[in-house]
Amino acid sequence: VADKILESFNEPLSLRQGDVFVSTSIGVATYQKHVSSNADDLLRHADTAMYRAKDAGRNCVAIFDESMLERVTQRLAVETALYRALERRELRLVHQPIVDIELGDVVGFEALMRWTRDDGSIISPAEFIPIAEETGIIVPIGAWALIEALTHLRGWIDAGICPETASMSVNVSPRQLHDPQFVTVVTEALASSGIPAEQLWLEVTESVMITEPTQALASLHRLNALGVRIAIDDFGTGYSSLSLLQRFPIQCIKIDRAFVNDVVTEPATQNIVRTIIAMAIAMGADIVAEGVETTEQLAQLTSLHCHRAQGYLFSRPVHVDDVPRVVKFIEDPTNWREITGRS
Ligand code: C2E
Ligand code: MG
Ligand code: MG
Repeated sequence: VADKILESFNEPLSLRQGDVFVSTSIGVATYQKHVSSNADDLLRHADTAMYRAKDAGRNCVAIFDESMLERVTQRLAVETALYRALERRELRLVHQPIVDIELGDVVGFEALMRWTRDDGSIISPAEFIPIAEETGIIVPIGAWALIEALTHLRGWIDAGICPETASMSVNVSPRQLHDPQFVTVVTEALASSGIPAEQLWLEVTESVMITEPTQALASLHRLNALGVRIAIDDFGTGYSSLSLLQRFPIQCIKIDRAFVNDVVTEPATQNIVRTIIAMAIAMGADIVAEGVETTEQLAQLTSLHCHRAQGYLFSRPVHVDDVPRVVKFIEDPTNWREITGRS
C-alpha cells in the first residue's frame, strides 16, 4: 500500500501556478503485543518511523522496529540536556587560526562550538548542532557564541597577540537567519566587544540559499549593509545554483575539506578547485581552503592561487588560552618553513 501511495506521487500535481512535485515520507508500524499496547502507541511508532524515512532522504517508506525507540529516547535525552547546557556553562568555543599562506601571518580565527556534558562526555557539533537547529535552541546558543567569540578576539587584539585587523568567523545556522532578532543580536555583539563590523565573518552553508532564500537574503543584506561579511562554508558540497549564488551577498568562499583532501592526488579535483577559485575571483570574493593537513596540499593550493587556509597543518581548533601560543608558533619563521616545507 505504501509503495502504491509513493508511486501515485510520481506524477506532478497541476496547480494554477504550474506543475508541482510533492514528495512523501511514510512510516509504517504493525501491532506487536510486547511493544505497543494501544492505538496511541501504534500511531506514535508509525510517526517515529516516518521521521526515519525523512532522515533517510525523504520520499521513501520506513518500517518501525524497536531500535528506533532507543534512538528516540537517546535523542530526547540530548535535547533536554542541550536546553540546560548554556546556563550550566557546558558550552565553550575553541578557535582555529586562519592563515595568510603567502605572508605566514595569522589573519583571523574560526570559532567552533564544543559541548562537554555533565557526565564529562564530549559531544561533537556535528551531532548537537542539527538538534539545536531543529528545536530552535540554536537561537540563544548562537547569540551566546557571537558575543563570546567577539569578546575573545577583543582580548587578543588588546593584548597585541594578533593585528588590530584580525577577523573572527562564526558559523550561523539557517534558523538563526530566520530569527527576526538576529540582526540586533549581531549589532549588540559588535557594540559590546568594540569589534568593527568588517572583522566579523558569518559562515553560512549553501543550504541557507535553498530553504526560504528570500528571508535569508533579507537578513544577509541587512547584515552586509552594516559591514558584516558573509562566507559560504563547505562550498561545493551543497546544491546551490549559480543563479542563487549571484543573488546572495558573498565576500568569501570556503573550499570544503573534501576537495582539499584530494587536491594533490585527483586531477579532476584540481580542476574543480581551480574553477571555484576562478569563480570566487570573478565574484570579487576571498577564498579560504578548509582542512589543510599536509604540506603537499598547501603547495598545490598555493600554486592554484589560494591565499588563505586553515587546517590541522597549522593548528587544530584550540582553547582560548592556547591561542597566543599557537599564533606565536605559526608566525615563527623557523616553524613556518617547517610547516610549509619552503626554504
Ligand atoms: P565547519 O564550519 O566547516 O568547521 C570545520 C570543521 O572541520 C571543524 O569541525 C574543524 O574542527 C574541522 N577541521 C578543521 N581543520 C581540519 C583538518 O585539517 N582536518 C580535519 N579532518 N578536520 C578539520 P567541528 O569543530 O567538529 O565542527 C563541525 C561543524 O559543526 C562545523 O563545520 C559547523 O558547520 C558546525 N559548527 C561548529 N560550531 C558551530 C557554531 O557555533 N554554530 C553553528 N551554527 N554551527 C557550528
Ligand atoms: Mg565554518
Ligand atoms: Mg566548513
